[in-house]
Amino acid sequence: MKWLIGKAKAPVDGLARVTSWMKVFFGDAHVTRPVDEAALVKALGGRPYSCIGQSHSYNGIQVIPGITAFHMGESRFDSLTYDPVTQTATCGPSVKVLTLKQELVKHGRRMLNSGNYMEQTVIGALSGGTHGYGPEGVIAQSVTALTFLDGHGQKITLKQGDPDFPYAALSFGTIGPILSVTLRTAATASYQSDAWVTRLSKKAALSKGAMAVTAAVVPYSDPADPLIMLHTLRPASEGKGARKTTPPPFSLAGLTEFLLRRLWAFDRLFPPLRYWLQRAANRLDIRTHRRVITAPEDLDYLYDPEPLLKTQRAPDLLTGFFATTFTAYNLAFFVPLERTDEVVRFLMLEAEKLRPLGFVLKSLISVRELPDASDLPFAGNFGGPAAAIDLFADVRDYAWLERLQRAVTSYFPGVRPHWGKSAIVDDFAAALGEEHINALRALHLRHYPPGTLTPNEAVRKLFDLGDPAPASAIAKATAPPEA
Ligand SMILES: Cc1cc2nc3c(=O)[nH]c(=O)nc-3n(C[C@H](O)[C@H](O)[C@H](O)COP(=O)(O)OP(=O)(O)OC[C@H]3O[C@@H](n4cnc5c(N)ncnc54)[C@H](O)[C@@H]3O)c2cc1C
Repeated sequence: MKWLIGKAKAPVDGLARVTSWMKVFFGDAHVTRPVDEAALVKALGGRPYSCIGQSHSYNGIQVIPGITAFHMGESRFDSLTYDPVTQTATCGPSVKVLTLKQELVKHGRRMLNSGNYMEQTVIGALSGGTHGYGPEGVIAQSVTALTFLDGHGQKITLKQGDPDFPYAALSFGTIGPILSVTLRTAATASYQSDAWVTRLSKKAALSKGAMAVTAAVVPYSDPADPLIMLHTLRPASEGKGARKTTPPPFSLAGLTEFLLRRLWAFDRLFPPLRYWLQRAANRLDIRTHRRVITAPEDLDYLYDPEPLLKTQRAPDLLTGFFATTFTAYNLAFFVPLERTDEVVRFLMLEAEKLRPLGFVLKSLISVRELPDASDLPFAGNFGGPAAAIDLFADVRDYAWLERLQRAVTSYFPGVRPHWGKSAIVDDFAAALGEEHINALRALHLRHYPPGTLTPNEAVRKLFDLGDPAPASAIAKATAPPEA
């Protein structure tokens, strides 16, 4: 196969195009991958810079044109240690979520929570407010200490309890480079994972007593009582084994259920049928239930309860071509948990109004419940339980999702940003709180005088960090790439 694919070229430092995931946002920057701390400190000197993890954020928060970009995810800051006494792990900025999980499982430990993809750097995921669902859903909630370099190359370590700590721990590019983070871990365990195709009205009863709840709403089903795919996790208990109740495979309901579960692939192959399949599924009113008991060492049990990673079970070439996260633009934000159902119905009605204009939401509306509150001021669940709502669209349609986000922020107070996926706009200022915006602003300016760390322009505007793009940066950003 190698002859077919060819040898991957090692990335070279220099002027290069930095793109967001799905390439909707891009800009030319001087990308550099320092080999060690000394090289990093040397490269900081006297010029504006930014940090990139794996560049997996959708909204371009990692793309800052015209300046020096430290590609930490492609550097060699791979240190990773587990301390059995404190049961914490400490890792550097090049370490990926998958690598951390693989190391932890050797010690019978796991991350407290994670997102549905593991190629991000741990530090990029923390900074972007990445979350899974269930208890302590925002990954940054598990951080106990971090070390970063200030604009003069001085090392600063902050620990839980330090007044600045909660601002630095989830800081979306306003503090950096972050050189290491220490995270709490938990013992590996087995879970009872239940998945239903059902209606929203049944969710409360079916998820009663569950520790973690997520739902994928079929966007063009009945907004009065939407069709959903509900997924709950409970600690595995004695006597409960796998179970499956599905319609007969050769019935219309069986076929529709099969297609619904593979909507991501079908959706990509036959976009014009997207809406009609969902209407048919809504009419057939399918009900199914599957139960799986997850393996304690399974790294992605939150999203794929079958043993091992999908890629370890069988090579799935189709995933890369069809999976929504590889083919769609994804926008997400957090809403207060008690208003989730209302927001979902609102989105369905708004999306329906956009259909005559040719816009159809892709795949499903995903709802991940974060049932507890975080004390990190910029976490999605700061101040109270929240639900993360994920919307998907074909890449060419991404701006419709920004319009839907704006509609939600206009009608529902308390909507908070997902730093790696929301369109970062001023609408979020009220929900973030002036005192917290001022505190992070002060922390940033204390450590980073102008001309040093330069966050993304949307963040600069939201936090009033000065001219979002100085004239020189605009000139550089709009100049054609050097030969
Ligand atoms: C396929 C896919 C699936 C995803 N699934 C989920 C999910 O389930 N849940 C979820 O919440 N999100 C999810 N995301 C979003 C993703 O987890 C976040 O956007 C995350 O921040 C990306 O991490 P990264 O390493 O690529 O960081 P980047 O996107 O490169 O950077 C993110 C931010 O971190 C900063 N940063 C990175 N490294 C450093 C450093 N060393 N020091 C200081 N600042 C730094 C950057 O400046 C930027 O502000 C998904 C993304 C993809 C592509």
